[in-house]
Amino acid sequence: MTSSEDLHKRRLAAVAKGVGSVVNAYVDHARHGTITDVDGREWIDFASGIAVTTVGNAAPRVVEAVRAQVERFTHTCFMVAPYESYVAVCEQLIALTPGSFEKRAALFNSGAEAVENAVKIARHATGRPAVVVFDHAYHGRTNLTMALTAKNMPYKHRFGPFAPEVYRAPMSYPLRDGGRSGAEAARQAVDVIEKQVGGPNVAAVLIEPIQGEGGFVVPAPGFLPAIAAWAKANGAVFIADEIQTGFARTGQWFASEHEGLEPDLITTAKGMGGGLPIAGVVGRAELMDAVHAGGLGGTYGGNPIACAASLAAIETMRELDLAAAARRIESILKPALAEPADPGIAEIRGRGAMIAIELVLPGGIEPDATRTARVSRACHDAGLLTLTCGTYGNVLRFLPPLVISDADLGRGIEILHAALRS
Ligand SMILES: *Cc1c(COP(=O)(O)O)cnc(C)c1O
Repeated sequence: MTSSEDLHKRRLAAVAKGVGSVVNAYVDHARHGTITDVDGREWIDFASGIAVTTVGNAAPRVVEAVRAQVERFTHTCFMVAPYESYVAVCEQLIALTPGSFEKRAALFNSGAEAVENAVKIARHATGRPAVVVFDHAYHGRTNLTMALTAKNMPYKHRFGPFAPEVYRAPMSYPLRDGGRSGAEAARQAVDVIEKQVGGPNVAAVLIEPIQGEGGFVVPAPGFLPAIAAWAKANGAVFIADEIQTGFARTGQWFASEHEGLEPDLITTAKGMGGGLPIAGVVGRAELMDAVHAGGLGGTYGGNPIACAASLAAIETMRELDLAAAARRIESILKPALAEPADPGIAEIRGRGAMIAIELVLPGGIEPDATRTARVSRACHDAGLLTLTCGTYGNVLRFLPPLVISDADLGRGIEILHAALRS
């Protein structure tokens, strides 16, 4: 049997260094809340492959649906010869997303591709060029989405020039903006937009309702509704990037629901596919249908195997009420992180099973990226797979599969406590 050490040697000689990995343990198999590497070591999974395996890894319904689909047909290209499952996934997106208005949807392969297409649709429908994004935002790694993403290292460094007509507004980040109210933070953002871009030029305002890679930043209450209201009043398309927050992760089907938002367009990916690559844009029919036939698409978008997996994942979320499971994980994780008190933890935040702690030097809010890396390494050494994030690299984030057992969740918390003490 090949060991992780052997595989890592092969990797170094074959895989480009620009593609990193959080750990150098190579996976043999994975289930609900655990991953087993080729050396037989079991890891508690607080990463879910970056918020993807919401229904668990190799979830039974997903495996069954994929197996059945592979035997029927693997690919025809929806733009060549269409099939039911693509339509059915679009129907689910329409039914599950907030907003009772008439909607349409289209499918793609990755989150970045969904975001690119949402921007294409918004520009086409409005005939305007500008896209407004926010500090700490993450929207992907393609050329346009690099421009939309805020953080230089590692996402943008030396990869420019970037796509034009992208403007950045200040974000509501309660820990780091002096606790401004949502309304106040929105006023500042609107001021930047109106003074530096001009309302009539704005095609879209694009925002993550809870920021993912940027640090699980939860904006102050009222910020998102105020930004959405400004977009509406100014004829700009309000796009919620729910690629990380969507599909039950935050304790609702979509995080927009926590503040009663009805975005004009929503981008989805990650959790929607049960581990297979699939993404979507869903929203107002008049925007989606504004684009001429043939203007949207791609060879693999809404591949039948990915669609089958997505339908099975959604069915699993519904059957097991995974939104409730996410709320339950929050109710266990948040108090566990608060106790014992740690002067280096400035904030415990997030919703559902999208929870993070921001680590600082005690006594202030100076980011402590060194400790974050150390705690993270200690978790990995002890068999807990965790991720870091944040503009300052000082946020530890927890994204367990929503089907994780209480026992595995408890073991993960114990390892985390020990790592924070070490
Ligand atoms: C992951 C992510 C993306 C990019 O998705 P990919 O599938 O990696 O291209 C875009 N937006 C948000 C909010 C994300 O979390």
